[in-house]
Amino acid sequence: MILIEGLVKSYGEHQAVDGVDLSIEKGEIFALLGPNGAGKTTIVEILEGYRVADGGKVLVLGEDPAAKGRAGAALRGRIGIVLQDSSDSQDLTVLETLQHFATYYSAPRNVDELISLVNLEEKSQAKIRTLSGGQRRRLDVALGIIGQPEILFLDEPTTGFDPRARRDFWDLILALKNNGTTILLTTHYLDEAEALADRVGVIVAGKILEISTPATLGGRMKALTTVSWQSLDGQIESVESDKPTEIIRELIKKFDGEIPALSITRPSLEEIYLKMIGEK
Ligand code: ATP
Repeated sequence: MILIEGLVKSYGEHQAVDGVDLSIEKGEIFALLGPNGAGKTTIVEILEGYRVADGGKVLVLGEDPAAKGRAGAALRGRIGIVLQDSSDSQDLTVLETLQHFATYYSAPRNVDELISLVNLEEKSQAKIRTLSGGQRRRLDVALGIIGQPEILFLDEPTTGFDPRARRDFWDLILALKNNGTTILLTTHYLDEAEALADRVGVIVAGKILEISTPATLGGRMKALTTVSWQSLDGQIESVESDKPTEIIRELIKKFDGEIPALSITRPSLEEIYLKMIGEK
């Protein structure tokens, strides 16, 4: 669905993207992770056709996203975009906005179904400027999927969402994936990447550090496991080990039953990510 080879892009002297290779398969959710200024938005906007690469090969659905004219318009009809910031007519209602954008596509989604999909039923008659940040973002997502895109680009989609709205949004994204939509996401929330992404790519200073699954990034599967429990004198004890099962076996013998306050944890994706970024 997406192929990137040797992509480079600079702004004046600053090399924002420095030789990136990446391919994304149909039906996959891929998350690009990286610190502020790493080059994520630049890559995504090149794929969307908003910015032009300086060099390298980029194909989206087999087409050049920088193509102008009919080829470019045809490609744009097959992709959906949710930008970091969007500005549209603040005085239209949610319903009017969606009805308006639906006319741009040959096979748009049903607008009423779309409003309920993004949970904006109560706000369908509200003007855009009266929406909260999270409601505004959900409208952005509705606009991104209104044309039933084959690929959906989401740039930091859940910034400003409350925890319940984020979970609802994740369910929506997973439902789109189950319907065959390919999704490229940038996010600073590592739990979001873990919940959604089949694969993640970590980018720092325009270069990809690693591409892997959330479970295996940065050697996560081989990382030491922390086992902690409450000892007989009431203290919380904690041990890091590559053989946690042995520790548990010993604890079972010692406590002869339930082990108080037992927890067994591997490093979170965020801990692994921060370590990778720190080393870089
Ligand atoms: P964030 O997580 O903060 O959104 P990002 O990874 O998306 O960051 P980009 O927006 O791609 O990063 O920016 C990469 C680098 O290129 C940054 O140093 C940024 O300042 C620079 N940059 C981006 N757009 C422009 C521009 N239009 N003109 C000049 N420099 C730019």
